[in-house]
Formats: sequence, C-alpha cells, structure tokens
Amino acid sequence: MKDAILQPSGQLQNMKGLLRRWNGPYTQLLRQTPGHLGLGQVPERLRPDGTTGAVCGFCSTGCGLRIHHRNGVAVNVSPDTLYPVNKGMACPKGWEALTPLYSEDRALAPRLRDSDGRLQTVSWNEALETMVSRFRSIQATFGPEFIAFLSTGQMMTEEMALLGALAKFGMGIRHCDSNTRQCMATAATACKESFGFDAPPYTYSDLEESDVLVFVGANPCIAHPILWQRVLGNPNRPEILVVDPRKTETASAATRHYAIQPKSDLVLFYGLANLLIQEGWVDQEFIREHTSFFEAFVDHVSEFSLARITDATGLCEDEVRSMASLLRPGKRVSYWWTMGVNQSHEGTRVAQAIINLALMTGQIGKPGTGANSITGQCNAMGSRLFSNITNLLGGHEFESPEHRRKVADELGLRPDP
Ligand code: SF4
Repeated sequence: MKDAILQPSGQLQNMKGLLRRWNGPYTQLLRQTPGHLGLGQVPERLRPDGTTGAVCGFCSTGCGLRIHHRNGVAVNVSPDTLYPVNKGMACPKGWEALTPLYSEDRALAPRLRDSDGRLQTVSWNEALETMVSRFRSIQATFGPEFIAFLSTGQMMTEEMALLGALAKFGMGIRHCDSNTRQCMATAATACKESFGFDAPPYTYSDLEESDVLVFVGANPCIAHPILWQRVLGNPNRPEILVVDPRKTETASAATRHYAIQPKSDLVLFYGLANLLIQEGWVDQEFIREHTSFFEAFVDHVSEFSLARITDATGLCEDEVRSMASLLRPGKRVSYWWTMGVNQSHEGTRVAQAIINLALMTGQIGKPGTGANSITGQCNAMGSRLFSNITNLLGGHEFESPEHRRKVADELGLRPDP
C-alpha cells in the first residue's frame, strides 16, 4: 500500500515554488510594518516619519485624512480615525488624494508668457509684481469695474474671505461671483427666503438618526460615498425614499424609488403638501409657533390634486399616498437634495417646496430631521456663506434699501446697487 501514495514530481514542486514565493519583488512590496504615530500597520516601504492632517477635496463630505510623509515628502495617506465626519473611513477617491501630486502637468511655480507667447517659469516676486502692475494699469485706464473674478468651492473659507475683502474693499472690484452661481444659487436663495439666512440645518448624525430619509435628485452612493456610509450606519432600519427619474445606484439601494417624470418634482411636492394637509398629517403647533403665511400656502397647494400629481409624475395613486403617509409627523424624517434639484429649471421653488414639507410636519430642528441641501465641492458652503456671491453680509437682503444702507455705512461704501 505504501507504494501507492502519490508524491509530487520534481517539476510539480518547482511550480509550487513559482506560485507561492516569499521573497520575490512583489512580496517585498506587500510587506507590512507597525507604522507608529497611531497608524497601525503600514507598507514597510512607505513607513513615514510624520503625518499632517488634511481634508479630502474630492467631494463636499469633508473627510479627514492623514498625510504620511517621510523626509518632507508625502508618501501615503490614510483616513483619520478620530475625525467625526468619516470616522476612519475613506472612499476610493479619498484614497487617491495624493495622485494629483504625481501629475506631470502639475503647476509648481508661476509662469509668464514671453514675447513669443511661450510660458516661462518666473519667481513668485516677478509674478506678483506683474499681476499687480497689470491690474493697476487696467483699472487706471478703464475703471475699477473692468476687472472681475470668479471663485471656486475648492478654497479654504479664510482664503475666500480674504479674496472677497481684497477684491471688493481693497481693489474696488464690483463684479465677482463664486461657484455658487453655476452650482446651487437656487438652494442658497431658497434657504435665505425660507429661513432668513443660508445655512442648511443639519449635522451628519441626522443621517444615522432618521427613521425616514428622502433623497431628491441626489446620488450619494457615488457622489458622496462616506455620507452614504453614514446612512448605512443608521441602526433604525430606515425607510430610504429616492425621488429621481434615473435608476441610480442610490435608487437601487433605496427601500422605495419614485421614478418620476423629469420636471415633475414641484408638482409632486406641492401635491404631497396638499395631501398631508387634507389628511391632517401636519404639526399644527409647530406651524403656529414657527412659521408664517401658512393659510396662503394651504390655498396655493390646494390646486395640486392627486390626479394632477399622478398625471405629471407618472406615479400611481397608491405610491403617492404611501409616500405621504411616510412623511407625516411621528417618525423622524429628513430630506436631502443636491444637483438634481439645484440645477433644474425651477430649482429655487423645488428646494422651498421640500423645506415647506419639513416645516409643516415639524421635521426640523430635532435629531434625525431637516431639509438639507448637500453641496458638490468641498467648500461650496464656504463660498455661499462668505458673500463672494451677490449677497449682502450677515443675512441682510440686497433688495432692501435699508439693509443696503446699513451694510454700506459699515463698510464706507455707496449704498446704490
Ligand atoms: S466621501 Fe468625499 S470627502 Fe470623503 S473620501 Fe470620498 S471623495 Fe473624499
């Protein structure tokens, strides 16, 4: 019997060695070592001698990252385990935070075109002096309003404040705008008109505390992945309602997807408001104490019947009724929207219609609630707040002559528009 036991031949033994080697070049790449600095295990070849905190700039979630560096050079990145936004998580975009550093066309120094139109590297002093003298010359020749700026949601809030102050009060520039104009001016206006100031009323903890989450024109699975992880961390087994004509990844992961016809969202939300009022599913005490013009609103939405909703949206009556019943007071309902609302043809009104649903049902100002616009760029909210949009400071209305005069007096400017 002993002779019947099969042994691998020498050739097979060699193949085993090829399939599993412990000292090949790729094995060395995978070798881990304690990273110290509270980092756990890190690749041995990327062991850092220090770390620096940073915020991921690839979406508006704002995840905290730790940049690992060695001899002053960034060698690796990991999510910050103590940061309250991402709690040690990062999506594939965040893990690639260092990739732009290796880009061949990354600008590392200022460049100026020479007389032949070719870009030449110059010193920072020369670049700044050229910029200042050319700006001065343009303004001296044509007037201060002949220079304008368009800012971005990728800058720090402090830089936005400095840019706005320097341009408006230092250089007398009258024409400036921020990424808000192309992105979510509608949400900013809706918040200002509804609340008197532009500040979406939520924290990320609300995603974990809601019983019902309503996403409108938003695809956080892909666009804000860590924010979506916070939804998945909700222990209440929430109903997740997605209102979106597209079957997005978020719609596929939702408990209910309302695939309405494009441009029918305003009819849907006004109609839902009407249905909630008819059924008595509103918070009368909250409405009385915290809102105004409710009677006029009731009158306005009374024209949005169930038949009008189904006709416009393509939903059936049962879907609309069941949606309304999920939004009524009692459970914690939060509303979340992004560019599908903001960049639509009635964006301001749709955003306000969502805010109105939250207000009339008292779903605001409590954990797990709120009418919440999500931005796209990492500091889009900074540009909204810091007045590089055509807004007045501190919740003042540009349309109000009294507000204009007050702000102008403070800043030593003329109040005329
Ligand atoms: S969710 Fe957004 S902020 Fe967080 S790691 Fe991903 S891209 Fe960066």
